[in-house]
Amino acid sequence: MLDIFIVFWFLIGAAVGSFLNVVIHRLERHESFVRGRSHCPRCRHVLAWYDLLPVISFFALGRRCRYCRAKISWQYPLVEVATGLLFALGPGLVQGFWPALTYFIAVAFFMVLWVFDATSYLVPDRVSLPAIAIIFVLNFLSGVKMSSLLLGAVLGGLWFLLQFAISRGRWVGGGDVRLGILIGVLLGYPLVFIGLALAYLGGSLIAAVLLLLGRKRFGSRLPFATMLLPAALAAWLWGSNIWQWYFTALGF
Ligand SMILES: [Zn+2]
Repeated sequence: MLDIFIVFWFLIGAAVGSFLNVVIHRLERHESFVRGRSHCPRCRHVLAWYDLLPVISFFALGRRCRYCRAKISWQYPLVEVATGLLFALGPGLVQGFWPALTYFIAVAFFMVLWVFDATSYLVPDRVSLPAIAIIFVLNFLSGVKMSSLLLGAVLGGLWFLLQFAISRGRWVGGGDVRLGILIGVLLGYPLVFIGLALAYLGGSLIAAVLLLLGRKRFGSRLPFATMLLPAALAAWLWGSNIWQWYFTALGF
């Protein structure tokens, strides 16, 4: 049975995803997030509400702009569906007002950072810095210890700062250091280690597959945030279980 509650959160998520698409688009062009009506990037025609229905408009219009017939990117419906699904899953995974709010906010920030890194290999400070501040405050309001959050941020940041220093910026960029701090304030100590471990595990598997398929060569840069962000979210949701399981398995 499809719960009406799940459908409700999916629709909210799809609408948020639609807004995130606008944020991503305006970030790419260094425009203001809030000013100005939504318009077609090619013909600049202002879009009506019925052109902006999440997912539905994309297919109803045959994947094209109503006014100039320019093709619309698949990125738009994909971000809307993905945000909708993550929002629909949220209430089943997280209990309590502040943790649930932390989840929804984290999903929104991570979606923007994920798409941006996947498409342009960049982690914009205009997104990562507010994300660090807001998620820190929300986690603190959720009852997570300040010492855990600060230690998580320092360890997450240091991990990338060291790689940045050793490689003189060749392995990771400054944006990755901010990303390390971000997952640190989400996960806190010691879960930040689980997040990093999952990211490297997932990253190695994907890199191995891409190498086997001949899609990437050794030394070519992978967009790291695309692994780190889902890994951090998984570690936040299930990290304590993984942590316990690991140490039980070791016999502690
Ligand atoms: Zn157009």
